[in-house]
Amino acid sequence: MASIQLKKVKKIYPNGFQAIHGVDLDIKDGEFLVFVGPSGCAKSTLLRMIAGLESISDGEILIDGRCVNDELPKERGIAMVFQNYALYPHMSVYKNMAFSLRGNFTKEEIEKRVLDAAEKLELTQLLDRKPSQLSGGQCQRVALGRAIVRSPEVFLFDEPLSNLDAKLRVTMRLQLIELHNDLKKSGKNATMIYVTHDQVEAMTMGDRICVLNQGQIMQVDKPTELYHFP
Ligand code: ADP
Ligand code: ADP
Repeated sequence: MASIQLKKVKKIYPNGFQAIHGVDLDIKDGEFLVFVGPSGCAKSTLLRMIAGLESISDGEILIDGRCVNDELPKERGIAMVFQNYALYPHMSVYKNMAFSLRGNFTKEEIEKRVLDAAEKLELTQLLDRKPSQLSGGQCQRVALGRAIVRSPEVFLFDEPLSNLDAKLRVTMRLQLIELHNDLKKSGKNATMIYVTHDQVEAMTMGDRICVLNQGQIMQVDKPTELYHFP
């Protein structure tokens, strides 16, 4: 479980462009929050700052009271899933999923975690394949599996489904909601932040939706309470 606080967060890129203009936001333990807004509104910048992958120009981001810049994402129990999957091309599906666990767990524990995640994501038959031998949807499931095996407290999703066809997007959407609910049921509540420019996706996935425009928050509310739309 992890709560996330953004306090007067600003981002000014080295070229002088201000992408984020003093954002305040409280994300609750175990919440599923969606960032939605048009291309260029700074969804991805904000997510990358929470992940610790992008410096914070002013203000602060706290995860369970700890400043994100002080620790590496992995140490903070954060896993990020990207739009382009970012799999290691030369490694098998098994190794892609096992990679980040090396050094921290026994071989038996790693195998258990990978095989459990593979079963959940219907990847058991594909463990020996390389990413080039997989479809887009299968690659995205491996990327998700790679996050799940670490049992992170925080999942960050950057438009993870936008390269998939419409039907698969719906399937994966339901799978992510199910993952969030399953973790809650098993007492391993994870906080999830999901970035999308797709209104339908936003409306169907989030406990709350944060509508962004030009680096500012327009509204944060339950899907049924929204009056600002991207
Ligand atoms: P979104 O994810 O909502 O599409 P981004 O966070 O990618 O938006 O970008 C927000 C704004 O910041 C855009 O205007 C973009 O052009 C700008 N931007 C992103 N990265 C950089 C960078 N490295 N240098 C300067 N401007 C950037
Ligand atoms: P390398 O040939 O580079 O050493 P392997 O492909 O043999 O790598 O995999 C390394 C380890 O990962 C193996 O010792 C094995 O324990 C585990 N492993 C790989 N594929 C699977 C699989 N499909 N099911 C269970 N364990 C696997």
